[in-house]
Amino acid sequence: MARAARDLGVTIRLETEVQRILLEGRRAVGVVTAEGDIRADAVVLNADFARAMTDLVPNALRRRWSDRRLAHKRYSCSTFMMYLGIEGRYDSVSHHTIYISRDYARNLRQIEEEHVLSDDPSFYVQNASVTDPTLAPEGMSTLYVLVPVPHRTPNVVWSDMRDRFRRVALQQLQKVGITDVEPRIRFERITTPDDWESRARIYKGATFNLAHNLGQMLHLRPHNRFEEADGLYLVGGGTHPGSGLPVIYEGARISSRLLLQDMGLDAAFIG
Ligand SMILES: Cc1cc2nc3c(=O)[nH]c(=O)nc-3n(C[C@H](O)[C@H](O)[C@H](O)COP(=O)(O)OP(=O)(O)OC[C@H]3O[C@@H](n4cnc5c(N)ncnc54)[C@H](O)[C@@H]3O)c2cc1C
Repeated sequence: MARAARDLGVTIRLETEVQRILLEGRRAVGVVTAEGDIRADAVVLNADFARAMTDLVPNALRRRWSDRRLAHKRYSCSTFMMYLGIEGRYDSVSHHTIYISRDYARNLRQIEEEHVLSDDPSFYVQNASVTDPTLAPEGMSTLYVLVPVPHRTPNVVWSDMRDRFRRVALQQLQKVGITDVEPRIRFERITTPDDWESRARIYKGATFNLAHNLGQMLHLRPHNRFEEADGLYLVGGGTHPGSGLPVIYEGARISSRLLLQDMGLDAAFIG
């Protein structure tokens, strides 16, 4: 993809943080980065919508999507994730396993409404070494564990809860046949909702962006041609039509088509 873009004349600047959108009145004319301003005929914004608005576009410019209104929107769940390098293998455990909490409805309420951690959380675990043994050195394996949890909330202080919830997650693994795992861990990386917010710059650490409830679906999401500034186009899970990769690709197609049309260029090839 990157090669194809470069062949079409695109310059890709990695590790270049956009600090704010450059505006002239209500028109986006480029971006401000630590390495200087980059001016452009149009700006396409892919960062997490709510976080990008609050960080990169002045609140005074936004009516429909002001900081206050964004704070009152509903946001998706977050994820607690563990990437583990394990001494030994769990050959009787499938590549993909989903454990559903004994009281699934309660587990969902805890995530979406009560915003508390469950003592019997549902989870997904990937034991990919059973399919591809080259993922780890001989006699070792990898595990990836994903536990859906509430987005950031005052109810859960992750700096206090991280280790306790790690123990819960490791205990849960026993329920799908992954026993005695803790002493076998040789490598470990954990991601909490705090990490989603601070490292990945996701508003409230809500991994899947603005929630997909009826009041925030489809055209009720932020529009691809951003309604609060000219020359600014949106893509990504927080915008129209919504989250999940196939939908995001469709959103990118819609934004590309609108941008080309607005610039008087041929958009027919986009389909
Ligand atoms: C654990 C997990 C499992 C998932 N599973 C699935 C699945 O099975 N199927 C599915 O369809 N979807 C899945 N998704 C969802 C899908 O991966 C995401 O919705 C999608 O990647 C989001 O794409 P995006 O373009 O909105 O954001 P991103 O891919 O996050 O792109 C945003 C980019 O903007 C950059 N950025 C942010 N701020 C700035 C700034 N100020 N300056 C410069 N750059 C910046 C970020 O670094 C990032 O590279 C999953 C997501 C997660 C986290």
